[in-house]
Amino acid sequence: MTSVTIPRDAQAKQPWHEMPVQDCLTALQASPSGLAKADIPARVTRYGLNELAEAESVRPWAILGRQFASLIVWLLLVAAAVSGFLGEWIDAGAIAFIVVLNAVVGFFQEYRAERAMAALRSMAAPHARVRRGGAVHDIASREVVPGDILVLEAGDLVAADARLLRSESLACGEAALTGESVPVDKRAEATVGRDAPLGDRINLVFLGTAVSGGSGEAVVVATGMATELGAIAGLIRSTDSGDTPLQRRLAAFGKVLVAVSLGLVGLLFLLGLARGIPSVELFLISVSLAVAAVPEGLAAVVTVALALGVQRMTRRRALVRRLAAVETLGSTSVICTDKTGTLTMNAMTVRTLQVAGLRYEVTGEGYAPTGTIHLQAASAAANTAALDALLLIAGGCNAASLRQEAGEWIAIGDPTDAALLTVAAKGGWTQERIEREHGKVGERPFDGDRKRVTVIRRHGPALRALVKGAPDMLLACCTRLMTDGGERPMTSVDRAAIVVINGELADSGLRVLGAAQRDLPDAVLGDAASVERDLTWVGLFGMQDPPRPQATDAVARCRSAGIQVVMITGDHPRTALAIARLIGIADAGAQALSGVELDALDDSALAARVKTTPVYARVTAAHKLRIVRAWKAHGAVVAMTGDGVNDAPAIKGADIGIAMGKSGTEVTKEAAAMIILDDDFATIVAAVEEGRGIYDNIRKTIEYLLAGNAGELLLMGVCIVAGLPIPLLPVHLLWINLVTDGLPALCLATDPIDRSLMTQPPRPAREGLTKGSALIRIGVTGVLSAGVAFAVYLHGLQNGDLESARTQAFATLVFCELFRAFGARSDTRMLWEVGFLTNLRLLAVVVVSVVLQIVSHQVEWLGRLLRTNSMPLSESLMLVAFGLVPLVVLEGWKGIARWRAKRTTVAPTRVG
Ligand code: ADP
Ligand code: MG
Repeated sequence: MTSVTIPRDAQAKQPWHEMPVQDCLTALQASPSGLAKADIPARVTRYGLNELAEAESVRPWAILGRQFASLIVWLLLVAAAVSGFLGEWIDAGAIAFIVVLNAVVGFFQEYRAERAMAALRSMAAPHARVRRGGAVHDIASREVVPGDILVLEAGDLVAADARLLRSESLACGEAALTGESVPVDKRAEATVGRDAPLGDRINLVFLGTAVSGGSGEAVVVATGMATELGAIAGLIRSTDSGDTPLQRRLAAFGKVLVAVSLGLVGLLFLLGLARGIPSVELFLISVSLAVAAVPEGLAAVVTVALALGVQRMTRRRALVRRLAAVETLGSTSVICTDKTGTLTMNAMTVRTLQVAGLRYEVTGEGYAPTGTIHLQAASAAANTAALDALLLIAGGCNAASLRQEAGEWIAIGDPTDAALLTVAAKGGWTQERIEREHGKVGERPFDGDRKRVTVIRRHGPALRALVKGAPDMLLACCTRLMTDGGERPMTSVDRAAIVVINGELADSGLRVLGAAQRDLPDAVLGDAASVERDLTWVGLFGMQDPPRPQATDAVARCRSAGIQVVMITGDHPRTALAIARLIGIADAGAQALSGVELDALDDSALAARVKTTPVYARVTAAHKLRIVRAWKAHGAVVAMTGDGVNDAPAIKGADIGIAMGKSGTEVTKEAAAMIILDDDFATIVAAVEEGRGIYDNIRKTIEYLLAGNAGELLLMGVCIVAGLPIPLLPVHLLWINLVTDGLPALCLATDPIDRSLMTQPPRPAREGLTKGSALIRIGVTGVLSAGVAFAVYLHGLQNGDLESARTQAFATLVFCELFRAFGARSDTRMLWEVGFLTNLRLLAVVVVSVVLQIVSHQVEWLGRLLRTNSMPLSESLMLVAFGLVPLVVLEGWKGIARWRAKRTTVAPTRVG
């Protein structure tokens, strides 16, 4: 075959699947050891980044455009034009100014929000492992270039189209590309015809597919839009618009509101006509009323609250992948969590060894190979041969490695394995010595279903299989027992004894692993799958994995927040229970349900059990999905964590799937709604708290805005119906609605979250934002503000001219709205409990607005702009006092409601 040169500009389509591996490498000027680092920039320039074209970025112009894309804004501009046409230049200018101010504020808020979301997207972007310059690197998938060598393992997302160089039982799920749901077996050495359909090109792997099992390496042949997925990228553009259920409900609610208020405004318009108000003036009033009625700030407020909240969550190490998760988080009632690494540190140390009837204790900390292995009972004599065999399994049946960095020993790979390496080294079996004396010839890696590992190594002239794994399950593969004097067939008494010791160690919270071995004739070389039988039982390792320091506290916080915490682990039931008790997940009497017991229950029996089961042990990934469903049958909102490939279905099935940032596979992360960057359970709880806070902020802001609108409409409506001159001019309405309501609303939406939310039970999942009690509050508040302003207006009309009366009514309503914002910050906590200095932006907005209002009564030109009359300072201060009335009344109401609630309710109920 002739060699091909790389085309200058584009990635030419080659029949990669038909070409021999060597030709592919030549064509790409690549080698199995990877590209040289210096070679990368040129390739990026030539091929571009590995991205699909639809990748979104922040578009300031689009955001600015959105500020003007509303009916209201256009109505206002028309109103400004009409005013100008009538020679009312000040009015026209004021309206235009308010519209622009509103757009500018909106623009900056939304721009900030979009930037936050874009930053988030890039943080959540997938990663890939590539071999470059001989070493494996973890890089962002978008940096992969043609010629790179992908290193693939179960759970990885394939980062580009690539030709396999090597494969070991590799299988890929290609549903994203071909729609075929059964994983495809991939083979590097397969020959494929030129015209084979995509699904049959089994020596290629494709961008956007997932490795479901095995491992392999492949040379990248196409990236970005040149890939097979890129070719159909236009077709599969995500259908999820990204709007959350809340945003959609609000949009629908907003439409209803617009229709209702326009209807009302129309009615007032007709009424005004009948009263003989000139039609141009009436038009301007109607436009202003429409502005007053329609809560145009709502959508922006929600976007801002969500985006900034999500940013805050990121700072607390919780990365939200789907915005909708934020809302769901707030109503989470059950958190199902992994044990190892999430509730515990995943920093393992072997403390105990049990072999040939003897118990050894191990000293030393961390992964340093310094420490001793000594007999527990000083009187007994050690059995060196048996201990040696056990330690050879510890060090030889192992996939981790240890490295000394700046004097400190660090583990690379699984901490369980690293701990075993450490104990082996303490007993003289260093990794180097094992490789030298007992070279490796085959292995069968760990999986969560078998819960064991086998490595085959040379042993003198023959071979030996070294096996370690979950003792209870490993025991079933054993027929012989290592004793102090050699080995013999295992009796049922032996088995029972091992089970007892296993249980004892587990009860003290140790993670227990069993060790076994089998000497093999040469014939079965490398065939690891078939050797896990007729094993000789060697002994047990007991390792300590301390709980994370914040776990206990986080569990307690869940309890007070009415959230049930459920531990789901592959570990032994008694180990799991011991840890669960330690950190408060299980009470003294609680029991663990094992995977085997779970299998014996049908779905309804399981549903009957879940509420009283805090711990599931020795489970596989499939059980997780059943547990999620059982909880959902009770109407619970379930958050579920996971790290392995097999966890993806359960994570998808949960209301909130949570992937582990450190230990999680790419596939799990892809399936998850949220990624916990530090794998820490406390972070999940922090995210729930943030979720509740964000929802609470949105809810109170909406209430605040709607109550403000209600007040304005009521005041106007009452006066028009009563045949009085209208109390507020268009400019006044605009000012109130867009400035003295709009700005505090934005500050409310970004209020620091209320820590006391975690002492209340979760919000029902289906609870609407405008439930009955909220509507009552909105109504009462509207009546209060309108009432105070109306009284001031009437008084002004009796004692002076119309313009002064309007000035007074306007100022009063403005003050009412501004002060009310402080009370709106919490439904339950009093003003002073929330504190005035805890939202400085709100304080600033209110102070500046109040001062501005008072100054407008003193300074001529400002008064002309806002259409206010002058008045003495004392009178202004009097109006400020009137403005405090709604706030004071509402606080009083809050206080009474709280006092009554305290008298009638007992402690908040707990689930389960
Ligand atoms: P967890 O839910 O605690 O993360 P895993 O699924 O990691 O549990 O492990 C379940 C069981 O599998 C462990 O209790 C242990 O018996 C066994 N196991 C875990 N890791 C290894 C390993 N590296 N080698 C052998 N057996 C292991
Ligand atoms: Mg695990």
